[in-house]
Amino acid sequence: MLHETGALISLQPNASKIVSALGLDKFLLSAEPMNDRCFRMVNTAGDVVTELWLDPSTFGADRVLYHRQDLHQGLRDAATSPELPGRPVHIRTSAAVVACDPEAGTVTLGTGETIAADLVIGADGIHSKVRTAVVGQALDAIPTGISAYRMLIPMESLGGIDVPASVFTPSDPVTTMIIGHEKRVIMGPGRGGKIFGIVALVPDEKMEEESSIESWVEEGSMEKLLDAYADFPQWMRDIFGRAPDIGLWQLRDLDPLPNWVKGRTILIGDAAHPMLPTQGQGASQSVEDGEALQAFCADIRGKPTKAQVTNALERVSKARLQRASLIQRYSREQAKPGTSSGSTKITLDPGQFMKYNCDYNGAVDWLHRQDLASVNS
Ligand SMILES: Cc1cc2nc3c(=O)[nH]c(=O)nc-3n(C[C@H](O)[C@H](O)[C@H](O)COP(=O)(O)OP(=O)(O)OC[C@H]3O[C@@H](n4cnc5c(N)ncnc54)[C@H](O)[C@@H]3O)c2cc1C
Repeated sequence: MLHETGALISLQPNASKIVSALGLDKFLLSAEPMNDRCFRMVNTAGDVVTELWLDPSTFGADRVLYHRQDLHQGLRDAATSPELPGRPVHIRTSAAVVACDPEAGTVTLGTGETIAADLVIGADGIHSKVRTAVVGQALDAIPTGISAYRMLIPMESLGGIDVPASVFTPSDPVTTMIIGHEKRVIMGPGRGGKIFGIVALVPDEKMEEESSIESWVEEGSMEKLLDAYADFPQWMRDIFGRAPDIGLWQLRDLDPLPNWVKGRTILIGDAAHPMLPTQGQGASQSVEDGEALQAFCADIRGKPTKAQVTNALERVSKARLQRASLIQRYSREQAKPGTSSGSTKITLDPGQFMKYNCDYNGAVDWLHRQDLASVNS
Protein backbone atom coordinates (compact mmCIF):
# COMPACT_ATOMS: atom_id res chain seq x y z
CA MET A 1 0.00 0.00 0.00
CA LEU A 2 2.97 2.34 0.52
CA HIS A 3 3.55 2.24 -3.24
CA GLU A 4 -0.09 2.46 -4.25
CA THR A 5 -0.37 4.91 -7.17
CA GLY A 6 -4.07 4.92 -6.77
CA ALA A 7 -7.50 3.71 -7.56
CA LEU A 8 -10.81 4.02 -5.90
CA ILE A 9 -12.51 0.97 -4.50
CA SER A 10 -16.15 0.59 -3.65
CA LEU A 11 -17.87 -1.32 -0.90
CA GLN A 12 -21.23 -2.40 -2.25
CA PRO A 13 -24.32 -2.30 0.02
CA ASN A 14 -23.86 -6.00 0.94
CA ALA A 15 -20.44 -5.12 2.41
CA SER A 16 -20.98 -1.60 3.77
CA LYS A 17 -23.89 -2.99 5.81
CA ILE A 18 -21.49 -5.46 7.44
CA VAL A 19 -18.89 -2.76 8.05
CA SER A 20 -21.51 -0.70 9.90
CA ALA A 21 -22.84 -3.67 11.87
CA LEU A 22 -19.32 -4.53 13.07
CA GLY A 23 -18.89 -0.96 14.37
CA LEU A 24 -16.16 -0.06 11.88
CA ASP A 25 -17.65 3.14 10.46
CA LYS A 26 -15.93 5.45 12.93
CA PHE A 27 -12.53 4.02 11.92
CA LEU A 28 -13.29 4.84 8.29
CA LEU A 29 -14.39 8.45 8.81
CA SER A 30 -10.90 9.81 8.14
CA ALA A 31 -11.10 8.01 4.76
CA GLU A 32 -13.78 10.58 3.79
CA PRO A 33 -16.09 7.89 2.39
CA MET A 34 -18.46 9.00 -0.37
CA ASN A 35 -21.90 7.50 -0.71
CA ASP A 36 -22.53 6.84 -4.38
CA ARG A 37 -25.92 8.11 -5.54
CA CYS A 38 -26.18 6.90 -9.14
CA PHE A 39 -24.62 4.54 -11.64
CA ARG A 40 -24.78 6.23 -15.06
CA MET A 41 -24.05 4.55 -18.40
CA VAL A 42 -22.95 6.64 -21.35
CA ASN A 43 -22.33 5.48 -24.94
CA THR A 44 -19.28 6.38 -27.00
CA ALA A 45 -21.26 9.16 -28.71
CA GLY A 46 -21.40 10.80 -25.24
CA ASP A 47 -25.15 10.24 -24.66
CA VAL A 48 -26.50 9.11 -21.28
CA VAL A 49 -28.23 5.78 -21.91
CA THR A 50 -29.18 4.42 -18.46
CA GLU A 51 -29.25 5.68 -14.90
CA LEU A 52 -29.46 3.34 -11.94
CA TRP A 53 -30.28 5.42 -8.85
CA LEU A 54 -28.83 3.98 -5.67
CA ASP A 55 -31.14 4.41 -2.72
CA PRO A 56 -29.75 3.11 0.60
CA SER A 57 -33.22 1.91 1.59
CA THR A 58 -33.25 -0.64 -1.28
CA PHE A 59 -30.57 -2.92 0.20
CA GLY A 60 -30.24 -1.38 3.65
CA ALA A 61 -26.94 0.42 3.06
CA ASP A 62 -25.03 2.66 0.69
CA ARG A 63 -22.52 1.82 -1.99
CA VAL A 64 -19.48 3.62 -0.59
CA LEU A 65 -16.40 4.85 -2.45
CA TYR A 66 -12.92 4.93 -0.88
CA HIS A 67 -9.34 5.44 -1.89
CA ARG A 68 -7.80 1.97 -1.50
CA GLN A 69 -5.09 3.23 0.86
CA ASP A 70 -7.65 4.92 3.13
CA LEU A 71 -9.89 1.85 3.30
CA HIS A 72 -6.87 -0.32 4.09
CA GLN A 73 -5.70 2.07 6.79
CA GLY A 74 -9.17 2.38 8.38
CA LEU A 75 -9.62 -1.41 8.53
CA ARG A 76 -6.10 -1.81 9.94
CA ASP A 77 -6.83 0.81 12.61
CA ALA A 78 -9.99 -1.08 13.57
CA ALA A 79 -8.20 -4.45 13.68
CA THR A 80 -5.48 -3.11 15.97
CA SER A 81 -7.77 -0.99 18.16
CA PRO A 82 -8.36 -1.95 21.81
CA GLU A 83 -11.82 -0.30 21.56
CA LEU A 84 -13.45 -3.18 19.65
CA PRO A 85 -14.29 -6.61 21.14
CA GLY A 86 -11.51 -9.19 21.12
CA ARG A 87 -7.77 -8.89 21.40
CA PRO A 88 -6.23 -6.22 19.14
CA VAL A 89 -4.51 -7.78 16.14
CA HIS A 90 -0.71 -7.89 16.06
CA ILE A 91 0.52 -7.23 12.52
CA ARG A 92 3.87 -8.53 11.27
CA THR A 93 5.00 -7.15 7.94
CA SER A 94 7.84 -8.47 5.73
CA ALA A 95 6.80 -11.99 6.68
CA ALA A 96 6.22 -13.81 3.38
CA VAL A 97 4.59 -17.20 3.78
CA VAL A 98 6.25 -19.81 1.58
CA ALA A 99 4.44 -22.93 2.78
CA CYS A 100 1.45 -24.02 4.87
CA ASP A 101 0.48 -27.27 6.53
CA PRO A 102 -3.30 -26.84 6.61
CA GLU A 103 -4.01 -29.86 8.82
CA ALA A 104 -1.44 -28.91 11.45
CA GLY A 105 -2.26 -25.18 11.25
CA THR A 106 1.29 -24.04 10.56
CA VAL A 107 2.81 -21.59 8.11
CA THR A 108 6.48 -21.36 7.20
CA LEU A 109 8.03 -18.00 6.39
CA GLY A 110 10.76 -17.24 3.87
CA THR A 111 13.17 -16.97 6.81
CA GLY A 112 12.49 -20.60 7.69
CA GLU A 113 10.51 -19.69 10.82
CA THR A 114 7.38 -21.82 11.39
CA ILE A 115 4.33 -20.36 13.14
CA ALA A 116 1.59 -22.57 14.60
CA ALA A 117 -1.98 -21.48 15.27
CA ASP A 118 -5.43 -22.85 16.09
CA LEU A 119 -6.69 -21.37 12.84
CA VAL A 120 -4.95 -20.23 9.64
CA ILE A 121 -6.81 -17.77 7.38
CA GLY A 122 -5.28 -17.68 3.91
CA ALA A 123 -6.03 -14.11 2.79
CA ASP A 124 -2.93 -13.85 0.61
CA GLY A 125 -4.58 -12.70 -2.60
CA ILE A 126 -4.81 -14.05 -6.13
CA HIS A 127 -1.32 -15.67 -6.14
CA SER A 128 -2.02 -17.37 -2.78
CA LYS A 129 0.51 -19.81 -1.37
CA VAL A 130 -1.99 -21.04 1.23
CA ARG A 131 -4.37 -21.99 -1.62
CA THR A 132 -1.77 -24.38 -3.02
CA ALA A 133 -1.72 -26.19 0.32
CA VAL A 134 -5.51 -26.26 0.76
CA VAL A 135 -6.41 -27.31 -2.79
CA GLY A 136 -3.40 -29.62 -3.12
CA GLN A 137 -2.03 -28.07 -6.32
CA ALA A 138 -0.72 -24.71 -7.53
CA LEU A 139 -3.41 -22.97 -9.58
CA ASP A 140 -2.11 -20.17 -11.78
CA ALA A 141 -4.52 -17.25 -12.11
CA ILE A 142 -6.02 -17.21 -15.61
CA PRO A 143 -5.42 -14.19 -17.88
CA THR A 144 -8.86 -12.91 -18.88
CA GLY A 145 -7.61 -11.04 -21.96
CA ILE A 146 -8.43 -7.71 -20.31
CA SER A 147 -6.11 -5.14 -18.74
CA ALA A 148 -7.00 -2.12 -16.64
CA TYR A 149 -5.43 1.33 -16.77
CA ARG A 150 -5.84 3.07 -13.42
CA MET A 151 -5.61 6.77 -12.71
CA LEU A 152 -6.25 9.17 -9.86
CA ILE A 153 -6.52 12.84 -10.75
CA PRO A 154 -6.69 15.72 -8.26
CA MET A 155 -10.17 17.21 -8.75
CA GLU A 156 -8.78 20.72 -9.22
CA SER A 157 -6.85 19.48 -12.29
CA LEU A 158 -10.09 18.83 -14.18
CA GLY A 159 -10.99 22.49 -14.70
CA GLY A 160 -11.61 23.74 -18.24
CA ILE A 161 -12.59 20.37 -19.74
CA ASP A 162 -15.73 20.57 -21.79
CA VAL A 163 -17.75 17.70 -20.25
CA PRO A 164 -21.43 18.13 -21.16
CA ALA A 165 -23.30 18.94 -17.90
CA SER A 166 -25.95 16.39 -18.91
CA VAL A 167 -23.32 13.65 -18.67
CA PHE A 168 -21.66 14.44 -15.35
CA THR A 169 -20.02 16.88 -13.01
CA PRO A 170 -16.83 15.13 -11.82
CA SER A 171 -17.25 15.97 -8.11
CA ASP A 172 -20.87 14.67 -7.94
CA PRO A 173 -21.20 11.37 -6.03
CA VAL A 174 -22.00 9.42 -9.17
CA THR A 175 -20.22 6.52 -10.87
CA THR A 176 -20.12 6.98 -14.62
CA MET A 177 -19.38 4.22 -17.10
CA ILE A 178 -18.68 5.00 -20.74
CA ILE A 179 -19.11 1.82 -22.63
CA GLY A 180 -17.88 0.81 -26.07
CA HIS A 181 -17.75 -2.58 -27.74
CA GLU A 182 -14.65 -4.03 -26.03
CA LYS A 183 -13.57 -1.05 -23.92
CA ARG A 184 -15.11 0.74 -21.01
CA VAL A 185 -14.19 3.48 -18.58
CA ILE A 186 -15.53 3.49 -15.01
CA MET A 187 -14.97 6.70 -13.06
CA GLY A 188 -16.10 8.76 -10.12
CA PRO A 189 -14.99 10.96 -7.23
CA GLY A 190 -13.34 9.90 -3.98
CA ARG A 191 -11.84 11.26 -0.73
CA GLY A 192 -14.77 13.59 -0.13
CA GLY A 193 -14.56 14.89 -3.72
CA LYS A 194 -10.84 15.77 -3.70
CA ILE A 195 -9.83 13.15 -6.24
CA PHE A 196 -11.26 11.63 -9.39
CA GLY A 197 -10.63 7.91 -9.99
CA ILE A 198 -10.66 6.13 -13.33
CA VAL A 199 -10.37 2.50 -14.34
CA ALA A 200 -10.21 1.98 -18.12
CA LEU A 201 -10.56 -1.60 -19.39
CA VAL A 202 -8.94 -2.60 -22.68
CA PRO A 203 -8.57 -5.99 -24.40
CA ASP A 204 -4.90 -7.01 -24.05
CA GLU A 205 -4.34 -7.16 -27.80
CA LYS A 206 -5.58 -3.56 -28.24
CA MET A 207 -3.06 -2.14 -25.77
CA GLU A 208 0.23 -2.66 -27.52
CA GLU A 209 2.00 -2.71 -24.17
CA GLU A 210 2.75 -5.28 -21.52
CA SER A 211 0.70 -5.12 -18.37
CA SER A 212 1.85 -6.63 -15.12
CA ILE A 213 0.34 -9.52 -13.21
CA GLU A 214 2.22 -8.81 -10.02
CA SER A 215 2.09 -5.13 -9.33
CA TRP A 216 -0.45 -2.38 -8.96
CA VAL A 217 2.23 0.16 -9.80
CA GLU A 218 3.26 -0.88 -13.32
CA GLU A 219 3.36 2.28 -15.39
CA GLY A 220 1.11 2.62 -18.43
CA SER A 221 1.77 4.86 -21.43
CA MET A 222 -0.46 7.91 -21.95
CA GLU A 223 0.11 7.77 -25.70
CA LYS A 224 -1.04 4.13 -25.91
CA LEU A 225 -3.99 4.80 -23.62
CA LEU A 226 -5.16 7.67 -25.86
CA ASP A 227 -4.67 5.49 -28.94
CA ALA A 228 -6.76 2.71 -27.43
CA TYR A 229 -9.57 5.20 -26.66
CA ALA A 230 -9.43 7.08 -30.00
CA ASP A 231 -13.15 6.40 -30.59
CA PHE A 232 -14.27 7.79 -27.19
CA PRO A 233 -15.48 11.38 -26.70
CA GLN A 234 -12.74 14.03 -26.82
CA TRP A 235 -13.61 15.22 -23.29
CA MET A 236 -12.89 11.71 -21.97
CA ARG A 237 -9.50 11.76 -23.64
CA ASP A 238 -8.91 15.25 -22.21
CA ILE A 239 -9.66 13.87 -18.71
CA PHE A 240 -7.13 11.03 -19.26
CA GLY A 241 -4.60 13.70 -20.26
CA ARG A 242 -4.79 15.28 -16.78
CA ALA A 243 -3.66 12.08 -15.00
CA PRO A 244 -0.33 12.66 -13.21
CA ASP A 245 0.53 8.96 -13.64
CA ILE A 246 -1.05 5.81 -15.02
CA GLY A 247 -1.03 2.32 -13.52
CA LEU A 248 -1.55 -0.75 -15.65
CA TRP A 249 -2.79 -4.12 -14.39
CA GLN A 250 -3.58 -7.33 -16.21
CA LEU A 251 -6.86 -8.77 -14.96
CA ARG A 252 -6.79 -12.41 -14.00
CA ASP A 253 -9.25 -14.63 -12.22
CA LEU A 254 -9.78 -18.32 -11.47
CA ASP A 255 -12.52 -20.84 -12.02
CA PRO A 256 -14.43 -21.38 -8.76
CA LEU A 257 -12.54 -23.66 -6.35
CA PRO A 258 -13.98 -27.02 -5.23
CA ASN A 259 -13.20 -26.29 -1.56
CA TRP A 260 -11.78 -23.56 0.66
CA VAL A 261 -11.19 -25.56 3.84
CA LYS A 262 -8.67 -28.15 4.98
CA GLY A 263 -8.14 -29.03 8.65
CA ARG A 264 -7.38 -25.82 10.53
CA THR A 265 -7.12 -23.65 7.40
CA ILE A 266 -9.52 -21.63 5.27
CA LEU A 267 -9.10 -19.44 2.20
CA ILE A 268 -10.87 -16.09 1.96
CA GLY A 269 -10.86 -13.06 -0.36
CA ASP A 270 -9.00 -13.22 -3.66
CA ALA A 271 -7.13 -16.32 -2.48
CA ALA A 272 -10.49 -18.13 -2.54
CA HIS A 273 -12.45 -16.34 -5.27
CA PRO A 274 -10.50 -13.87 -7.42
CA MET A 275 -12.96 -12.15 -9.73
CA LEU A 276 -13.03 -9.53 -12.45
CA PRO A 277 -13.77 -5.99 -11.20
CA THR A 278 -16.75 -5.62 -13.56
CA GLN A 279 -19.25 -5.60 -10.67
CA GLY A 280 -16.93 -4.08 -8.05
CA GLN A 281 -17.61 -7.11 -5.79
CA GLY A 282 -14.06 -8.41 -5.10
CA ALA A 283 -13.42 -6.54 -1.85
CA SER A 284 -17.08 -6.75 -0.86
CA GLN A 285 -16.99 -10.54 -1.10
CA SER A 286 -13.87 -10.49 1.10
CA VAL A 287 -15.81 -8.47 3.70
CA GLU A 288 -18.60 -11.06 3.54
CA ASP A 289 -16.00 -13.80 4.19
CA GLY A 290 -14.76 -11.92 7.26
CA GLU A 291 -18.26 -11.56 8.66
CA ALA A 292 -18.93 -15.28 8.08
CA LEU A 293 -15.80 -16.23 10.02
CA GLN A 294 -16.86 -13.98 12.88
CA ALA A 295 -20.39 -15.41 12.86
CA PHE A 296 -19.46 -19.10 12.83
CA CYS A 297 -16.48 -18.84 15.22
CA ALA A 298 -18.35 -16.67 17.75
CA ASP A 299 -19.38 -19.63 19.91
CA ILE A 300 -15.86 -20.98 20.34
CA ARG A 301 -14.50 -20.27 23.81
CA GLY A 302 -11.02 -21.02 25.12
CA LYS A 303 -8.62 -23.20 23.16
CA PRO A 304 -10.61 -25.00 20.45
CA THR A 305 -10.06 -28.58 19.36
CA LYS A 306 -9.13 -29.18 15.74
CA ALA A 307 -12.59 -30.69 15.16
CA GLN A 308 -14.25 -27.52 16.49
CA VAL A 309 -12.16 -25.36 14.16
CA THR A 310 -12.78 -27.53 11.10
CA ASN A 311 -16.49 -27.69 11.89
CA ALA A 312 -16.75 -23.87 12.13
CA LEU A 313 -14.78 -23.45 8.89
CA GLU A 314 -16.98 -25.95 7.06
CA ARG A 315 -20.01 -23.87 8.05
CA VAL A 316 -18.32 -20.72 6.73
CA SER A 317 -17.64 -22.51 3.47
CA LYS A 318 -21.19 -23.86 3.29
CA ALA A 319 -22.56 -20.33 3.63
CA ARG A 320 -20.06 -18.68 1.31
CA LEU A 321 -18.57 -20.90 -1.40
CA GLN A 322 -21.58 -21.25 -3.66
CA ARG A 323 -22.51 -17.55 -3.44
CA ALA A 324 -18.99 -16.22 -4.05
CA SER A 325 -18.49 -18.70 -6.91
CA LEU A 326 -21.67 -17.48 -8.59
CA ILE A 327 -20.57 -13.85 -8.21
CA GLN A 328 -17.22 -14.83 -9.77
CA ARG A 329 -19.16 -16.19 -12.75
CA TYR A 330 -21.43 -13.12 -12.92
CA SER A 331 -18.33 -10.92 -13.00
CA ARG A 332 -17.07 -12.80 -16.07
CA GLU A 333 -20.52 -12.46 -17.61
CA GLN A 334 -20.40 -8.68 -17.09
CA ALA A 335 -17.06 -8.52 -18.95
CA LYS A 336 -18.63 -9.47 -22.27
CA PRO A 337 -18.66 -6.77 -25.02
CA GLY A 338 -20.93 -3.88 -24.06
CA THR A 339 -22.29 -3.22 -27.57
CA SER A 340 -22.43 -5.17 -30.79
CA SER A 341 -19.46 -4.49 -33.04
CA GLY A 342 -19.62 -1.10 -34.83
CA SER A 343 -22.68 0.06 -32.86
CA THR A 344 -23.04 2.52 -29.95
CA LYS A 345 -26.18 0.74 -28.69
CA ILE A 346 -25.38 -0.63 -25.24
CA THR A 347 -26.53 -4.17 -24.63
CA LEU A 348 -25.00 -4.67 -21.18
CA ASP A 349 -27.29 -4.33 -18.15
CA PRO A 350 -25.32 -3.19 -15.06
CA GLY A 351 -28.24 -3.93 -12.75
CA GLN A 352 -28.66 -7.52 -13.94
CA PHE A 353 -27.08 -9.19 -10.90
CA MET A 354 -27.52 -6.36 -8.41
CA LYS A 355 -30.35 -7.92 -6.41
CA TYR A 356 -28.52 -11.22 -5.98
CA ASN A 357 -25.26 -9.47 -5.05
CA CYS A 358 -26.58 -6.81 -2.69
CA ASP A 359 -29.61 -8.37 -0.99
CA TYR A 360 -27.48 -9.92 1.76
CA ASN A 361 -27.80 -9.85 5.55
CA GLY A 362 -24.85 -11.88 6.72
CA ALA A 363 -23.80 -15.51 6.47
CA VAL A 364 -26.18 -17.00 9.05
CA ASP A 365 -29.19 -15.43 7.37
CA TRP A 366 -27.90 -16.52 3.93
CA LEU A 367 -27.51 -20.12 5.06
CA HIS A 368 -31.01 -20.01 6.52
CA ARG A 369 -32.39 -18.68 3.21
CA GLN A 370 -30.58 -21.46 1.28
CA ASP A 371 -32.01 -24.10 3.64
CA LEU A 372 -35.53 -22.68 3.19
CA ALA A 373 -35.10 -22.61 -0.59
CA SER A 374 -34.00 -26.25 -0.68
CA VAL A 375 -36.95 -27.30 1.52
CA ASN A 376 -39.36 -25.45 -0.79
CA SER A 377 -37.90 -26.82 -4.01
C1 LIG B 1 -8.70 -2.71 -11.38
C2 LIG B 1 -9.42 -3.31 -10.21
C3 LIG B 1 -10.49 -2.61 -9.62
C4 LIG B 1 -11.18 -3.16 -8.55
N1 LIG B 1 -12.23 -2.47 -8.03
C5 LIG B 1 -12.94 -3.02 -7.01
C6 LIG B 1 -14.06 -2.35 -6.44
O1 LIG B 1 -14.42 -1.24 -6.84
N2 LIG B 1 -14.74 -2.96 -5.42
C7 LIG B 1 -14.35 -4.20 -4.96
O2 LIG B 1 -15.02 -4.71 -4.04
N3 LIG B 1 -13.28 -4.84 -5.46
C8 LIG B 1 -12.56 -4.29 -6.48
N4 LIG B 1 -11.49 -4.96 -6.98
C9 LIG B 1 -11.09 -6.24 -6.39
C10 LIG B 1 -10.33 -6.06 -5.09
O3 LIG B 1 -9.20 -5.24 -5.28
C11 LIG B 1 -9.87 -7.41 -4.55
O4 LIG B 1 -10.95 -8.31 -4.60
C12 LIG B 1 -9.41 -7.27 -3.11
O5 LIG B 1 -8.26 -6.45 -3.05
C13 LIG B 1 -9.10 -8.65 -2.52
O6 LIG B 1 -8.62 -8.49 -1.21
P1 LIG B 1 -7.70 -9.59 -0.56
O7 LIG B 1 -7.33 -9.05 0.79
O8 LIG B 1 -8.32 -10.92 -0.65
O9 LIG B 1 -6.41 -9.66 -1.49
P2 LIG B 1 -5.30 -8.56 -1.76
O10 LIG B 1 -5.88 -7.19 -1.73
O11 LIG B 1 -4.61 -9.00 -3.01
O12 LIG B 1 -4.33 -8.69 -0.51
C14 LIG B 1 -3.49 -9.85 -0.36
C15 LIG B 1 -2.46 -9.50 0.69
O13 LIG B 1 -1.68 -10.68 0.96
C16 LIG B 1 -0.30 -10.34 0.91
N5 LIG B 1 0.42 -11.55 0.48
C17 LIG B 1 0.41 -12.11 -0.77
N6 LIG B 1 1.17 -13.23 -0.77
C18 LIG B 1 1.67 -13.37 0.48
C19 LIG B 1 2.54 -14.32 1.09
N7 LIG B 1 3.03 -15.36 0.42
N8 LIG B 1 2.85 -14.15 2.41
C20 LIG B 1 2.35 -13.10 3.12
N9 LIG B 1 1.52 -12.16 2.59
C21 LIG B 1 1.20 -12.31 1.28
C22 LIG B 1 -0.20 -9.21 -0.08
O14 LIG B 1 0.98 -8.45 0.15
C23 LIG B 1 -1.46 -8.41 0.24
O15 LIG B 1 -1.26 -7.53 1.30
C24 LIG B 1 -10.79 -4.43 -8.02
C25 LIG B 1 -9.71 -5.12 -8.59
C26 LIG B 1 -9.05 -4.57 -9.68
C27 LIG B 1 -7.90 -5.37 -10.28
